Amino acid sequence: MDKYEKVFELAKRRGFLWNSFELYGGSRGFYDYGPLGSTLKRRIEQIWREFYVIQEGHMEIECPTIGIEDVFIASGHVGGFSDPLCECKNCGEAFRADHLVENIMAAAGTLSAEQLTQVIKEKGITCPECGGELNDAYEFNLMFKTTIGPGTGRKGYLRPETAQGMFVDFQRLSRFYRDKLPFGAVQIGKSYRNEIAPRQGVIRLREFTQAECEIFTDPRNKKHPDFERFADSELTLYSQEAQQKGEAFRTTVREAVEKGIIAHEMLGYNIALTNEFLTKVGIDPARLRFRQHLKDEMAHYAIDCWDAEIATDRFGWVEIVGIADRTDYDLKAHSRVSKTDLYVYVEYDEPKMLTRFVVKPNMGKLGPLFKGKAKAVADALKQLSEEELSKSQIKVTVDGEELTVSSDVVDFAEETVKVSGENVIPHVIEPSYGIDRIFYGIMEHAFDEEKLAQKAAESGLKVEENEEKADKGPEAAKDENEGEGEEETRLVMHFSSAIAPVQVAVLPLLTRKELADPAKEILLRLREKRLLVSYDDSGTIGRRYRRNDEIGTPYSVTVDYDTLQDGTVTIRDRDSMRQVRAPIKGIENVLYELIYRGRDFESAGKPFNF
Ligand code: AMP
Repeated sequence: MDKYEKVFELAKRRGFLWNSFELYGGSRGFYDYGPLGSTLKRRIEQIWREFYVIQEGHMEIECPTIGIEDVFIASGHVGGFSDPLCECKNCGEAFRADHLVENIMAAAGTLSAEQLTQVIKEKGITCPECGGELNDAYEFNLMFKTTIGPGTGRKGYLRPETAQGMFVDFQRLSRFYRDKLPFGAVQIGKSYRNEIAPRQGVIRLREFTQAECEIFTDPRNKKHPDFERFADSELTLYSQEAQQKGEAFRTTVREAVEKGIIAHEMLGYNIALTNEFLTKVGIDPARLRFRQHLKDEMAHYAIDCWDAEIATDRFGWVEIVGIADRTDYDLKAHSRVSKTDLYVYVEYDEPKMLTRFVVKPNMGKLGPLFKGKAKAVADALKQLSEEELSKSQIKVTVDGEELTVSSDVVDFAEETVKVSGENVIPHVIEPSYGIDRIFYGIMEHAFDEEKLAQKAAESGLKVEENEEKADKGPEAAKDENEGEGEEETRLVMHFSSAIAPVQVAVLPLLTRKELADPAKEILLRLREKRLLVSYDDSGTIGRRYRRNDEIGTPYSVTVDYDTLQDGTVTIRDRDSMRQVRAPIKGIENVLYELIYRGRDFESAGKPFNF
């Protein structure tokens, strides 16, 4: 079993994640989040909100997951959101044509369907499933189509990203933020892509959760007002140049921006913010890097683009977040298709005196030529740019009709005017997160198989003895043959308390009322503190510890017979497996401090049994 299989096996068994529609044989690219998985995912999303909505002030919006066709014509998804598809003539299996040749050609992702077909033919590539002949590759649009309304209805698509909602709502958002750049908005929600061959578990889904932020910035100023906050943070960068050498490097955000490795402060700040978020939710910093898009990979309109990538056991480096400066591409595209100017009027700090050419239409000549439309023609001329006016035959549009005006009926004059501001089409900085990939990354990076004997030596504990001792109660004998103490390894999820789906497990040693009552009392008090708690009274205590290790519960509280004598309970720390004895009174505060205030475990009570 490789690590992916081990993590996935645990995820299924313990209620994190499993294939959707299992009852009916499943369908590739769809996964259900179980009780613990949903909680974990929500907690990741909640921390994301804390970062982007609360700290950064980019408010959250919610748009439909179905979009009308115009939106995706403007965004370019109708025309170009496709992958090259290749099918087997024999078994009918579908493949990404670029994936079929990527072992042979480094830049497979940049080849057209025709070029891929040629390579497949030349190299004699056959169906990986049955060895059959493959048909010609062709571009397959990844959007799910639908119809809005009955009958032939109106064409619609399930959104392939959440970002378009922020672009389409740009004018309203701009008003909301009182037209002050920079401003941003976020959306967390489902996106849909009809992936050709999703064979990589939650890495490639057909329905997945994105958390995207669009920050509308002034194109003339990409300095970040809070740049100093992260300027000295260290990042692992895999820049274009570093990729040629095949080696990522560590540097500070300040240095990367100063040396021009990262295009500007706005991007640098957002890359650092991503780094902080990912580390906070449990991505291992040693398995995280930021890779710059290569020139031929970057969208033609983008200034700079970086992917946060994580190292995974089975899939190698996987992109989990994309951070790009998309310039004014999206707003201009929507302006064009919606025929609506999308801009922000930016006032200068001080009004400027500008000398400019102004057009003086000669009404004496325009009148006879254009009669009743002469005034409208004169107005239209005043709206044109200097470049358009410099032509000998000037084109204007009046009431939808295009008219040609000869330049000799137009005079120019120089004029000095006071200008207080200008219309600016903002540039968009976009951090785009894939929550499911982050979820998987956290699971894999948190996963560990620990040899108990070694663990005991490290912790200075007799682990088995210690945990076995807790098993001994009046009824322990009947559990004794379950062999918990014989386990040599433990599976453990080292989730941080910030995301663990269960933060404290309350474990009465036995199901007896005299132990269950105080345990339930503790449970209530922990819930009042808004901690995520579970009550677990089935199986031996050793088995319950193992179960909670597997679901990543940072602390367990055990109520035993000593509790009835001296009013203390055992708190066990998942990672070190050490235990302390602490009074029931105030136990909720102790756990709250361990979880949220970073209190040192050893200070939580008296060391127990070692
Ligand atoms: P993109 O718009 O392709 O740059 O995607 C933005 C983010 O969404 C990526 O960094 C991924 O984390 C995530 N993502 C994209 N496609 C998928 C997919 N098919 N399944 C799961 N996550 C995805």
